[in-house]
Amino acid sequence: MCGIFGVTGHGDAASITHLGLYSLQHRGQESAGIVAVDADGLAHATRAMGLVSDGLADGELKGVQGHVAIGHTRYSTAGASTIENAQPILARARGGHIAVAHNGNLVNHVAIRRQLEEDGAIFASTQDTEVIVHRLARARAATPAERIREALTGLEGSYSLLLLLDDVLYAVRDPRGWRPLAIGRLGDAWVTASETCALDIVGAQFVRDVAPGEIVRLTPGQLETVGSLDVAPAMQCVFEYVYFARPDSRVFGGSVDRARRALGRRLALEQPAPGADLVFSVPDSSNSAALGYAEASGLPYELALIRNHYVGRTFIAPTQGGRAAKVKVKFNPVRELLEGKKVVMVDDSIVRGTTTRGLVQLIRGAGAAEVHMRVSSPPVTGPCWYGIDTPNREELIAARLDPAAIAAEIGVDSLGYLSLDGMLGAVPGGPDGFCDACFSGRYPTDPPESPLVPLRRR
Ligand code: AMP
Repeated sequence: MCGIFGVTGHGDAASITHLGLYSLQHRGQESAGIVAVDADGLAHATRAMGLVSDGLADGELKGVQGHVAIGHTRYSTAGASTIENAQPILARARGGHIAVAHNGNLVNHVAIRRQLEEDGAIFASTQDTEVIVHRLARARAATPAERIREALTGLEGSYSLLLLLDDVLYAVRDPRGWRPLAIGRLGDAWVTASETCALDIVGAQFVRDVAPGEIVRLTPGQLETVGSLDVAPAMQCVFEYVYFARPDSRVFGGSVDRARRALGRRLALEQPAPGADLVFSVPDSSNSAALGYAEASGLPYELALIRNHYVGRTFIAPTQGGRAAKVKVKFNPVRELLEGKKVVMVDDSIVRGTTTRGLVQLIRGAGAAEVHMRVSSPPVTGPCWYGIDTPNREELIAARLDPAAIAAEIGVDSLGYLSLDGMLGAVPGGPDGFCDACFSGRYPTDPPESPLVPLRRR
């Protein structure tokens, strides 16, 4: 998953982008970058591994000035976690330049890349996004908007894109609209971001979302639809509502907070926990769902598990060993609330089960008499091919075990998942128009080819 942010028509576009990226940090923590274009048409780039606050400290922005900029926070779903794969990509082409920031995952990039390489193209990274740069450089259509359409036609999978063609900013969503992308106004400037929380941080007013398949050109004073990609049935990622987006954002036209509360209320109706004393969340991503559960069940909501905010999202750590070790560093239970109590632990999802098992041990260790787990989404039975980092079926606990066996494996007294229909009925705009492939196995595309082997330094 990744976060993307762009601004045009602002004298300090790089600083605005820098600020915006802080609000998109939850979408990717492996690397961050900014490309800005100045009044002379010169493009400047800075990219670094790690968090925005580490890699892109204020000093790094000195050389990155301009009136138009795009930025990116990354965690890898195609291509290794290396500086070569950090975005935005900046390339020279046609006597000017192309810069690209991408949120999503192209499922057919391996075949497209192979074809480009056979034609003599040279690649600088192993990420899927680089094929977009090559196709833009080779597109022959007359106008930039038509060249964007030409370059993207035939790409399969998910892409919310910010493109800089010379000094003009374009915002594009794939025809199925898998990933969100919003547009806002900041005085005379346009701002565009994966989530509206990034518009809020820079003081921009939300204007509208980029529509699925829409190509938008943003120039000072003008927002114009300059093209559209071939239509396909909407496939907005329901997991954005369940887990990924921030609750203070609106995505796909709905409030993430409202969505999660509705999921929690629905969960309480479908999966009650008779006799329980209290409900608590696994912070932060399930706070709103646990509040919904408490509201609908009438159980008191307690802050029984405390999260250390100076440790990143466990899942995003790219190796499994790192994840398991981090559970204890990241969470600590409040013994005074849990001792002798029958408790309901609400989480938004169980993916590998590693974090959950560690959490249940912590809760029992703090003296809970019974632990009843309730999950505000259905069992994750398949990998996501469209930008969420759950690549291997073997790693998914619900692909191997049924709920009763999962309950035994993670050590809870009872386990209840929200149903697929319950989830789709609870999210704003549902039940139609969402991708639920990781829960249902209904994949709208062919599977991706195996990933590329990263280049190694010797
Ligand atoms: P686990 O028990 O190892 O399956 O981890 C479950 C936790 O991971 C839950 O608290 C989820 O909020 C969180 N989670 C679910 N999907 C993701 C993801 N794609 N990236 C990071 N964390 C996730």
